[in-house]
Amino acid sequence: MRILISAFLLLLSPFVLAKEIPDYPAKKIAPHTYMIEGPLGLPNAKNKGFMNNPVFVVTKTGVVVIDPGTSVYTGRMVLRQIRKVTKNPVTHVLDTHIHGDHWLGNQAFSEAYPKAILMAHPKMIAQANAGEAKQWLSLMSQLTKGATDGTKAVVPDKAIDNQHQFKTGGITFKILAPKKAHSGTDIMIHIVEDKVLVLGDNVLHKRIGRMDDATFRGNINACDVAINSGAKVFVPGHGPSGDVHIVKKYRTYLSTIFESVKVYIDEGLNDYEMKAKIHEKLEPFIRWSGYKDQLGKHISLAMLEAEKAMFE
Ligand SMILES: [Zn+2]
Repeated sequence: MRILISAFLLLLSPFVLAKEIPDYPAKKIAPHTYMIEGPLGLPNAKNKGFMNNPVFVVTKTGVVVIDPGTSVYTGRMVLRQIRKVTKNPVTHVLDTHIHGDHWLGNQAFSEAYPKAILMAHPKMIAQANAGEAKQWLSLMSQLTKGATDGTKAVVPDKAIDNQHQFKTGGITFKILAPKKAHSGTDIMIHIVEDKVLVLGDNVLHKRIGRMDDATFRGNINACDVAINSGAKVFVPGHGPSGDVHIVKKYRTYLSTIFESVKVYIDEGLNDYEMKAKIHEKLEPFIRWSGYKDQLGKHISLAMLEAEKAMFE
């Protein structure tokens, strides 16, 4: 019998191992705050869906995790990195927004720490429960060719909105949630004593974001809120962390498109003519991951928003 079981486990192990995410090192970016920088690009079979920036904060009494990634396997990888730094239990998990690459890793933490409090924007919770959680699970499975399969969507149940604040283990967490930014469900988290701001996908660095659920004006405003937050270290949703310049740079990308589109609409240009002119203004971004795929779409979305704004 034992031989049979071993043989069965041996057969099974390549499938289990195939889904494991290898360790990515956690980098200390402030006295209590660590970030695991995910690879750039979209979820695929090679990265097994891991491409965001999980963050954890080691307090005196516990650990606060932000955006534990795309799958239960990413979540477990994050937990392994936490274990290298502290034995403290995970007390809170915060999800920056509805997009599944940021929060489907929750499961790893609710399994290991059933008492952990899972928090997100009220609209994130509502949309996830209304069916988007399931949609994200199947999209991730499709994009990664099944590498995220086995993941369950564990939706947060504690709603936190703009200006919400809590203190745990001597560290203060302050929520900034400007409306209609990247997804309409976004929170940014200010880790006050560490002067760190976790931006979610309101800001990306070296990668161009999706604007499908965003507004340009809302997202530009979110950049301004971040710039004025008083933080010194900024963690984008994807790409390396940095100082306030990474926020200003992404703001430049968004405002260059939106402001140019407004001018060119007045001049009567069509979207194809605009694309060539706007491309010339975006030289600092042309090597960013996703630039070529997104530019045309971003111009169309900016045109729709600018035209709609004329009637407001
Ligand atoms: Zn997103």
